[in-house]
Amino acid sequence: MSRDMQRFVQLPAALPPKRGANSRRKDFAEIYDAFATTEAGDQASRCAQCGIPFCQVHCPVQNNIPDWLKMVAEGRLEEAYALSSATNNLPEVCGRICPQDRLCEGACVLEQSQHGSVTIGAVEKYITDTAWEQGWVKPVTPERERAESVGIVGGGPGGMAAAEELRKLGYQVEVYDRYDRIGGLLVYGIPNFKLDKVVVARRVDLLTRSGVKFHRQVEVGKTVSFADLRRKHAAILVATGVYKARELACPGAGAAGVFRAMTYLTASNRHGLGDKVPAFADGSLNAAGKHVVVIGGGDTAMDCVRTAVRQGAKSVKCLYRRDRENMPGSQREVANAVEEGVEFIWLSAPEAVLHDSDNQVTGVRAIRTRLSTADASGRAKPEDIDGSQFIIPADMVIEALGFDPEDVPGLFGEPGLAVTRWGTLRVDESKMTSVPGVFAAGDIVRGASLVVWAIRDGRDATAAIHNYIQAQTSAAPSLKKAS
Ligand SMILES: Cc1cc2nc3c(=O)[nH]c(=O)nc-3n(C[C@H](O)[C@H](O)[C@H](O)COP(=O)(O)OP(=O)(O)OC[C@H]3O[C@@H](n4cnc5c(N)ncnc54)[C@H](O)[C@@H]3O)c2cc1C
Ligand code: SF4
Repeated sequence: MSRDMQRFVQLPAALPPKRGANSRRKDFAEIYDAFATTEAGDQASRCAQCGIPFCQVHCPVQNNIPDWLKMVAEGRLEEAYALSSATNNLPEVCGRICPQDRLCEGACVLEQSQHGSVTIGAVEKYITDTAWEQGWVKPVTPERERAESVGIVGGGPGGMAAAEELRKLGYQVEVYDRYDRIGGLLVYGIPNFKLDKVVVARRVDLLTRSGVKFHRQVEVGKTVSFADLRRKHAAILVATGVYKARELACPGAGAAGVFRAMTYLTASNRHGLGDKVPAFADGSLNAAGKHVVVIGGGDTAMDCVRTAVRQGAKSVKCLYRRDRENMPGSQREVANAVEEGVEFIWLSAPEAVLHDSDNQVTGVRAIRTRLSTADASGRAKPEDIDGSQFIIPADMVIEALGFDPEDVPGLFGEPGLAVTRWGTLRVDESKMTSVPGVFAAGDIVRGASLVVWAIRDGRDATAAIHNYIQAQTSAAPSLKKAS
């Protein structure tokens, strides 16, 4: 069925049906149903087909959004898939978990003119899920195989995107990851209710069928040396993400029952995947029946509160030192959390974790804050309000305060790898680090960021790696070969 475009006046913006909060509190299934074909076409036909598509400008992978929306409206789904997958290696993942309100949809002219953005992410998810159902998603078959190999350290979205792009160019690609599953934070960080693990697993399977060789449970710097990898491959891409959790620095922070967000989320994700998780089975990492306080206001905090709700916590509170307008987490996720029964305590900061004589956490003493004028970074700074302390009872406290990079040069035994003052790897405009032939992408370069930015970096690094290897091979053709 073909439709006219620019139907934003007749048709209100709509997301696919969302399961009711009562139903979704009980399980870890994704909360949005799929668009029906008619709904997807109707929503796509709302696009104004702007001369300058701000949605595309604000999409980190520069998706050709207006064109694939038109194709969906005209019922040309296979073409829409070909176009959308030309710029994005994981479109169905981005369609699900990009914070669209801050990216493509936030920039949509219809949003700016109060008509409500085209629901771009939901259409992108619809296109690619349909492509999988129809068998249009095919493994990579390079036009010609190249002898040179590239080693990728880290199998998260940055590493996965680069692996696929490098295979398209015919390189032999080997991915090393310290986890037992490929996907990085897509598997062990982000909960199933946002991104079903099956969605990630079928991509990993596709990459395997595309000829990518995965080495699981191989920690570079421990299981294998970085120097050996450099000898083995013509180029290396480091896409190791950021995993050093920022911790509470207040009295009582070491009490039993205080956990880091990733410890908590990894246990929950592993349990959901059917792994044996002793600390979940013995109840320590399970929020069931507990009063839970999560400290932080980012996407990680939102995932923790919503996980605790689903595990059957008695109460779930989120403590954040700024207000709702100034929190880093996606507003859509905050709204979902509120619907699911999470209580937000805005403008409040932890002063101490309280515990009993057995060192078991009993609560959090917090202090009210007010926001000062914005600092140089543009964010309002919270200031404590004297004498405003209050106590929140808790059996479990989860720290979701953000992540810093690990000491990659130290872990890799490669002091020549230059880092920024934040500890992220320093790269030049071609994504090459200070060590020739070693490139970097994703969170380890940007600091904690987004899946779609990791994909963009992985794609950009591929082009740079290709240029580097071509230059090296023409200078010394027999320099490095695939093993
Ligand atoms: C809880 C949580 C929720 C999030 N929610 C969202 C969201 O909704 N939307 C969004 O866009 N982004 C979200 N993010 C951010 C997003 O997940 C990251 O920006 C993205 O995964 C970064 O990709 P990456 O490839 O750089 O690193 P990662 O995904 O972290 O992958 C890095 C991989 O490197 C491996 N590795 C590390 N060191 C070594 C080593 N020495 N040897 C071998 N392997 C190694 C790790 O095991 C891991 O598999 C979230 C993050 C968290 C923590
Ligand atoms: S990749 Fe993300 S930002 Fe780009 S169109 Fe898709 S949902 Fe929007």
